Amino acid sequence: MLPVSIQMRILWTLAMGTVFVVLLQYQSSGAWSQQQGQPVARPDLVAEDLVSMALSKVVVDESAGVSRDLLMGISRQIARYVVYSASCSNVGGGVFGNGVSGGGGYGGGPGMTTVEPSTVYVITPTYRRPEQVADLTRLAQTLMLVRDIHWLVVEDSHVKSPHLGVLLQSFGVRYNHLIAPMPERFKKIRGAKPKGVANRNRGLKWIRQNAVEGVVYFADDDNTYDVRLFNEMRNTQKVSMWPVGLCTRTGLSTPIVKNGQLVGFYDGWIAGRKFPVDMAGFAVSVKFLLERPNAQMPYKPGFEEDGFLRTLAPFEPHQIELKADNCTKILVWHTQTKKNEPSLNVDKEKYKNTNILSLKEIIV
Ligand code: UDP
Ligand code: MN
Repeated sequence: MLPVSIQMRILWTLAMGTVFVVLLQYQSSGAWSQQQGQPVARPDLVAEDLVSMALSKVVVDESAGVSRDLLMGISRQIARYVVYSASCSNVGGGVFGNGVSGGGGYGGGPGMTTVEPSTVYVITPTYRRPEQVADLTRLAQTLMLVRDIHWLVVEDSHVKSPHLGVLLQSFGVRYNHLIAPMPERFKKIRGAKPKGVANRNRGLKWIRQNAVEGVVYFADDDNTYDVRLFNEMRNTQKVSMWPVGLCTRTGLSTPIVKNGQLVGFYDGWIAGRKFPVDMAGFAVSVKFLLERPNAQMPYKPGFEEDGFLRTLAPFEPHQIELKADNCTKILVWHTQTKKNEPSLNVDKEKYKNTNILSLKEIIV
């Protein structure tokens, strides 16, 4: 049994470490910068600095006979937690280091350096349907964990939905709520429609009018994103790509990499495309986009990605920047939410003056 004074010292050390981690998490969650509305820029801390700060709070007192191993074990736990918190909120290096693939790797390591501040403009097409609010809520919870995100939510509609406006405001993610309806001529088509094209082009127009630096990423509302993906794409110079998990028999859409070089594309549907990639599998530098004023997405079902990437000419496949550890990690999944019938009307008389009527306005 350790003497009481040493037990107290260990408890004190643990308490200080916990307070530090809680404070750090609160700070890195963006909660205190976003409560006032628009998030403000936070200082870029390097993960190692945070670890050293945490370690400096731990007192190792060998003369008193306290096991050095025990204290170092405790301090390592705190350090790991700090690195994890920092990477989740993208304060500092992040789990993929500075975004250069092959850097620190999961869990962080000696290769980690500071991420240059660079905004990721996330363009999300969306449209009214029973799953919409659920899908957008899930995506927002992901984006809330990532620093320097500017979310462009573009509704396929002639009018902005007020309920969506309230919802978007509630997340505390920097955003713009835009509209861009699918042209009538495509709505009438029986087969495959150019889904989300008008919306994405509206997002690109906003970027041209408002952005000068950063990265553009098309993030559909129903996919599944790992928070680390956004740090991966943050330092894109021209166009970067990475694997996308598909829940199909092909299972994947990804650049094929051999000895660190792009040698082709793996996708269930090549169809003569120059860039046979998934919408979720690439990002473009804002500067690169601005130098190509005619770049846009064609209303061509199945060829939206290829058509858009071709309009970035001059740009060839060998210039693609490979991310996610040379395309060995899956950080995004092209998921689909099961389609559902709209809910039934409710009896307005029966539920008069109850919460049911206002809740019914939120759902479809
Ligand atoms: N979308 C849209 N209008 C439509 C259909 C889809 O704005 O009429 C959006 C949708 O919210 C999603 C993107 O376009 O963000 C791609 O659509 P979807 O997920 O249905 O395509 P899939 O993943 O099945 O190819
Ligand atoms: Mn989808």
